[in-house]
Amino acid sequence: MTAESGPDAASGDRSPAHEGFSFTPGTFLPDGLGRTGVIHTPHGDIRTPAFIAVGTKATVKAVLPESVAGVGAQAVLANAYHLFLQPGPDIVDEAGGLGAFMNWPGPTFTDSGGFQVMSLGVGFKKVLAMDATGLADDDVIAEGKNRLAHVDDDGVTFTSHLNGDRHRFTPEVSMGIQHQLGADVMFAFDECTTLLNTRGYQERSLARTQEWAVRCLAEHGRLTAERAHKPYQALFGVVQGAQYEDLRRQAARDLAGLEVDGHRFDGYGIGGALEKENLGTIVGWVCSELPVDRPRHLLGISEPDDFFAAIEAGADTFDCVMPSRVGRNAAIYTLDGRFNVNTAASRRDFRPLDPDCDCYTCAHYTRAYLHHLFKAKEMLAATLATIHNERFTVRLVDDIRASIEQGRFEEFRTQFLGRFYARARG
Ligand SMILES: [Zn+2]
Repeated sequence: MTAESGPDAASGDRSPAHEGFSFTPGTFLPDGLGRTGVIHTPHGDIRTPAFIAVGTKATVKAVLPESVAGVGAQAVLANAYHLFLQPGPDIVDEAGGLGAFMNWPGPTFTDSGGFQVMSLGVGFKKVLAMDATGLADDDVIAEGKNRLAHVDDDGVTFTSHLNGDRHRFTPEVSMGIQHQLGADVMFAFDECTTLLNTRGYQERSLARTQEWAVRCLAEHGRLTAERAHKPYQALFGVVQGAQYEDLRRQAARDLAGLEVDGHRFDGYGIGGALEKENLGTIVGWVCSELPVDRPRHLLGISEPDDFFAAIEAGADTFDCVMPSRVGRNAAIYTLDGRFNVNTAASRRDFRPLDPDCDCYTCAHYTRAYLHHLFKAKEMLAATLATIHNERFTVRLVDDIRASIEQGRFEEFRTQFLGRFYARARG
């Protein structure tokens, strides 16, 4: 299937304000969901599928922006919650926006802050206690845990993890912050639930998220007009619905059809806690309901096998904190799986981290040197490990993209995962 023959191709409803942001689908997998493409933004193009490097606080931890570009990353995703607390979105705005502030000339994303606000000490760390009747409110939390966030129909009140100050996020507040941060892609403010929430709670939460989507679009339209001198910022609606097929599909259809004051979502995020074994299935339900000419971002993902599943099911971009996070703890990705350079096996190993890697670290340094840096707790350890792991991840996604273009996705998946997980299988 090509872009021209796909459902809803080129629906052509772009208002002039949306100029500078668009998505061009490329080659599709035989089932028509997974695809390559190009996202055009005011700060450059993103060839998809693409891994978006995570720069939570306007920095990819431990590495220079030049190194982020050097590993081939095409875009960086920062977090609205963290930048709201520190340094404050007004300062980022005065600096000329996120990219100018952090010296990253390419495309940028910000997430809405909802995930961080709502997982402050609860939810995703599984301390949120819900009763089985579906009557429990969202402020019921496990014994011995402090409640840092409270969700109501209008927004979320939360306590700063930095200094204990009370703050409130609503859809309008999140849009205001994200417009000030100035990223090319923003996300609508949504309620993040956990797999522990009851079906009844998921339904009520989803209704709330859909109402918030309407408010986000309205405020986005107002701010876009007010800040017409700035480059256009695209807004992605976020599809929730947990593990329920009917809820996921309905949410995707509702968001796909939503139009407020002439504004529609420019793309879609797929949010919520996903069990690893259902990831591809859930992404597939959602993507089969979304318009083919808008990009889809999977919010948060972890391991190489997830990349294949998400891309096959139609995700165009995804962010993943794992390569840099585990790298700072000495875990190194190679084509033969993950290993820890901290262990004695690397002490006298003078090979590169991965003999097949083309990164700066592998070109100049040995496992023995990285082992030494981690043991000595030298900062350079985190820098060199991050460069390698980010390159590994970017290259994997580049290779997946090439495999789709060349019609050998399945072959590449079998070959890559067979080798990567061979050691785990013993
Ligand atoms: Zn490397």
